[in-house]
Amino acid sequence: MSLPQPGDYIDIHVHGGKPAKGIFILESLMAHENKMAENISGIAYTYGIHPWFLDEYNHKQQISLVLNAVVNPCVIAIGEAGFDKLRGPSPDLQQRVFEEQVIISEKNFKPMVIHCVKAWDELLASNKSLKPHMPWLIHGFRGSPELARQLTSKGMYLSVWFDYVLRPESSDLLRTLPTERFFLETDGADVDIRDMYIKVSHDLGISVDELKIRILSNYKNFFNL
Ligand SMILES: [Zn+2]
Repeated sequence: MSLPQPGDYIDIHVHGGKPAKGIFILESLMAHENKMAENISGIAYTYGIHPWFLDEYNHKQQISLVLNAVVNPCVIAIGEAGFDKLRGPSPDLQQRVFEEQVIISEKNFKPMVIHCVKAWDELLASNKSLKPHMPWLIHGFRGSPELARQLTSKGMYLSVWFDYVLRPESSDLLRTLPTERFFLETDGADVDIRDMYIKVSHDLGISVDELKIRILSNYKNFFNL
């Protein structure tokens, strides 16, 4: 299993990433794409069913792909999985398939990476009823400081939406996030993770090197390394 090295920029949520010197990526494979995780230095993988690409006809086959992938040591988390009120199938199907993936996460001791759009009540209710032992990471977060506090108080980690991080108005959220609970990501967009580290280190009044140490420590805690 490939691990981030001290000094690496960690990009916690990527699609279609390429290995690059000094950057460690967590590549998010979606079951409907039917791609395999390979052992490549600088890359680890998540594997899961994205709610956008889920329907009544494909969900069983996608679950069996997740079950096949989860035994691969390069696959270190389940997801992205979750809820989307703006796109995807019925809330009921989204809920069922999310819960099936949480069970896979728990049984295999691999944490969850979560996509959540306008479904925070559903997410919090699932967290309450499923009582997971594995930590959950919300990717693409762009909610209020209050919502961030609510989620992190339940033990969840947040990765802030790439576009929002780079905007000046994200500074307030970034300053109020518990530093032991956050990550940065490019989500497959044409942006540079290094620019995000520069922006956030400015917001927090620390150096890029200190921010790298902080995020590496969050990575180790999230994955129980
Ligand atoms: Zn994504």
